[in-house]
Amino acid sequence: MYEKRKSRRIYVGKVAVGGGAPVSIQSMTVTKTDNVEATLIQVHELATQGADIVRVAVPHEADALALPTIVEQGGVPIIADIHFSVRLAMLAIEAGVHGLRLNPGNMRNPAHIKEVADAAKERNIPIRIGVNAGSLDKKLVAKYGRPTSEALVESALYEIGLLEEHGFRDIKVSVKHQNVPEMIAAYRQLAELTDVPLHLGVTEAGTPKQGVVKSAIGLGTLLAEGIGDTIRVSLTAEPVEEVKLGKQILQTLGLREVGFDLVACPSCGRAELDVFKLANEVEAAIEKMDLPPMQIAVMGCEVNGPGEARDADIGIAAGPGRGLLFAKGKQIGWVPHDKLVEALLEQAQKVADEIRAKGGSEVGDVQVLKGAGRRQALMSIGMTPTDEA
Ligand code: SF4
Repeated sequence: MYEKRKSRRIYVGKVAVGGGAPVSIQSMTVTKTDNVEATLIQVHELATQGADIVRVAVPHEADALALPTIVEQGGVPIIADIHFSVRLAMLAIEAGVHGLRLNPGNMRNPAHIKEVADAAKERNIPIRIGVNAGSLDKKLVAKYGRPTSEALVESALYEIGLLEEHGFRDIKVSVKHQNVPEMIAAYRQLAELTDVPLHLGVTEAGTPKQGVVKSAIGLGTLLAEGIGDTIRVSLTAEPVEEVKLGKQILQTLGLREVGFDLVACPSCGRAELDVFKLANEVEAAIEKMDLPPMQIAVMGCEVNGPGEARDADIGIAAGPGRGLLFAKGKQIGWVPHDKLVEALLEQAQKVADEIRAKGGSEVGDVQVLKGAGRRQALMSIGMTPTDEA
């Protein structure tokens, strides 16, 4: 891993971005924002899954007018996504949003930029300059022939300059491209040229089948080089999937402990049981539990099994007809194959209780609405809590 790039610190609500803060996870609702009830349910679901910051689209005045309730009851910082309209940006600022996302390609009048910058500065609201290959300023597309990484970077630097001319410095920037090598090149260039915190994303990454790989490579490459202060995975899927993948990317790189880490062997001719089935059953069961970050190992035989299982928080090493169960490095005992999942979950809950008793379960400064908190939040807006997603 490279040393983390030094960036200036800004705050989106209470979430620190840049300046050495943990890399935060963002996602965006897909509801019509003026449907306050549906939007709040989704905001709470995203927060429950681990989103630090949630963005909502504000294409119409009705959406801007819904913002005060969403901001007040969202439970996480809310960013208003604004294109084209200075009026909507001003309404969002008045609504008390925790951040604005402006698309420079879609807001060209420098007087409008100044108006928004002045109002945001007065309220300590940061602005993300969201440069996107699909909506790049036409002059830059003409200059470079297509939306190259250089074109994205030129656009970003121009907009940073415009805001800074007005004394506005609470800026973060994204230079998103649907082409992963181009996206990586743009962020690398920008990282050399400014200390503004960087919001990473591969735009229009597609359905999970392709989007997972594109996002993991694009975001993962940059994060492994120390570049990136906040991330948004873009998937053509339910937004909770974006948050789950964002968490996995950060966890894989050791940047944040945000969930469980399943270590499972790929299986081979030595396997003493169906490792695919066992690993999938364990994963599905653990996902439904409310556990603090922990590592769980599922190993198919006694070759590497006991070592990996002992090193994890909970681990199973399969033997003929039974498996050896470990918890926190201690051998718990032999369990028949058909009881392995049950025994593992029981130990996982015990370890979780121990971790919580020591006060080590919360992730960063994220306010996650779960269980009673989520129920209370939903009931406070007159809604009936349903499942505990
Ligand atoms: S742990 Fe055993 S079953 Fe799994 S891949 Fe290694 S040798 Fe094969």
